[in-house]
Amino acid sequence: MEKDTILVVDDSDIICSIIKGILESPSLHIDIVHSGEEGITIAKELHPTLILLDIIMSGIDGYETCRILKNSDETKDIPVIFITGNNDPKSILKGFEVGAADYVSKPFIPEELKARVKVHMQNIKNQRELHILMQELKEMAVTDYLTKLHNRRYFMEQLQVFVTESTSDIFLILFDIDNFKKINDIYGHNTGDLVLVTISKILKLLLRKEDILGRWGGEEFMICLPDVTENAAIDFANRFRQEVGGYHFNCNGTVFQCTLTGGVIQYDRSISLEKNFTKVDQALYVGKSSGKNRCIYSYPK
Ligand code: GH3
Ligand code: MG
Ligand code: MG
Repeated sequence: MEKDTILVVDDSDIICSIIKGILESPSLHIDIVHSGEEGITIAKELHPTLILLDIIMSGIDGYETCRILKNSDETKDIPVIFITGNNDPKSILKGFEVGAADYVSKPFIPEELKARVKVHMQNIKNQRELHILMQELKEMAVTDYLTKLHNRRYFMEQLQVFVTESTSDIFLILFDIDNFKKINDIYGHNTGDLVLVTISKILKLLLRKEDILGRWGGEEFMICLPDVTENAAIDFANRFRQEVGGYHFNCNGTVFQCTLTGGVIQYDRSISLEKNFTKVDQALYVGKSSGKNRCIYSYPK
């Protein structure tokens, strides 16, 4: 694990070594600089977990240093604790006004310094954990739990962005696994799940970086192919179908194969998103009712 860093900004060597002596621990890295200017540079470079900042220094003082740190996107979230020999309420208040999170008074009571630092480090850790959790939640909201593909909602949002922001030709492919109910019935639901996951991986491997793939429904996958010609889109669809159809699944030693039927359309910007989905669904239906394991292209009228 990466060590937390505390940056101490104080022009007195003695104060710096006292602080180092009090806070030093194997899980902590302590950096020392002796001016506000250096403090700002190092804070931007190292992005420490916490800054202990002296108020009275030659050059820019602690208040000005803190103001600059709080005005920079790179450093504004790093908590600053003022080190002050001046305990009058006015100077303490001024520290809070320029963005300090806390203050400690000189001469230090070691336990107090440790306790204040600990509280702010814990706050930062909690914030980091919350941030990670929020990212995970955001990811979950756009991801299908089983296949880890984008879900239908995300696919629709992305397609909408594509449709409005580009003028290039877009093709949609809707695939549905053939006779999937039978696969569940014969090999069990877990194997069915494995088939869904495997097909997702195969499709993902075959797609280009700019394509969008989503799990559309139970055993349906929707693909958006931008910037391709009609022939290329039909070729892509058939290649996906053949690759999946040629894969050998294995259930406790029993090998089986699984086919796809696909509908393919050129996205029509003159009608709604929903109407385009209806069109591609209709093309898929034609493929199902004419014998499955094929791709049907619905020519624009
Ligand atoms: P067709 O060729 O006409 O598409 O027939 P089908 O059997 O594939 O289609 P049908 O709509 O009759 O059945 C789809 C099945 O997919 C039924 C449902 O239980 C199964 N299914 C949907 N989601 C999942 C899933 O997440 N895991 C598993 N194992 N099965 C699923
Ligand atoms: Mg099916
Ligand atoms: Mg279906």
